[in-house]
Amino acid sequence: MSALPDTSLTDRVAFVTGAARGMGATHALTLASRGADVLIADLDSAELDATAKQIREDTGRRVDTTVLDVTTPDAGEQVRDRAEQVFGRLDIVVHNAGIMHDWKGIVETPVEKLQPYLDVNVAGPYAITRTLLPLLQASPAGRVIFISSQWGQLPDGHSYGYMVSKAAQLGLMKALAKELIPHKILVNAIAPGAVLTRMVPDDVYEAELAAVPLGRIADPAEISATVAFLASDSAAFITGQTLAVNGGALIPSS
Ligand code: NAD
Repeated sequence: MSALPDTSLTDRVAFVTGAARGMGATHALTLASRGADVLIADLDSAELDATAKQIREDTGRRVDTTVLDVTTPDAGEQVRDRAEQVFGRLDIVVHNAGIMHDWKGIVETPVEKLQPYLDVNVAGPYAITRTLLPLLQASPAGRVIFISSQWGQLPDGHSYGYMVSKAAQLGLMKALAKELIPHKILVNAIAPGAVLTRMVPDDVYEAELAAVPLGRIADPAEISATVAFLASDSAAFITGQTLAVNGGALIPSS
């Protein structure tokens, strides 16, 4: 009988965006606890430093930080240079940074309100991935993981920028997965349902809770466990897929 594939991430280097707080911080902590060194990025310098300190203390892994806006044209170069200088390699990219400003329908949402979401969720990750390709190609286990949303799988008529960009992220993920197969870089997405972070206001959680068959909001660590799985050798035969981590919210009715 063959040995079970390894869930360890020892000797891997992971880059996580939006990692100062919320799910991004938990992804980085989880990847480090499985043995990876991590490069974490966010707009918020103070929270990023506090998260890096905690990950170092809790895991003993090497942690480096870079303050960046994923939508700026040189974000990819910034990450590439930092990864090369500090770690000499990069294996895992987690596109996690996200925004949520409004919960409005089409009448209250002029077209220009879509652009910031498309920049953070699609154009930024696209440009960063493009710049990081040589590093990922050099890795024996290159991985790109998008944190999308169940609203990207089943839009339901609010926050158009969020829904449309999260759906576009899934399209980008599939296109990249197909193109990068020859390089053995695996590209997947996670589509969480409601997760307890500062992104979602309490009243929205109350409304979302009613639609979760398992009857609770997810803990960020439950999404991070899926990130760690997709990053590991246990997921070495999975690419181009979206893993729904949503408490059963989108089970088809027949
Ligand atoms: P959060 O608001 O707690 O964290 C988001 C982080 O992204 C923040 O630290 C923020 O500073 C950073 N960020 C925002 N714009 C950035 C930019 N341009 N460049 C760099 N960093 C930037 O939110 P979260 O809930 O942890 O969200 C993480 C991801 O999960 C997002 O992509 C979000 O859309 C997705 N998601 C969240 C939920 C939920 O219920 N919380 C559900 C499904 C998907």
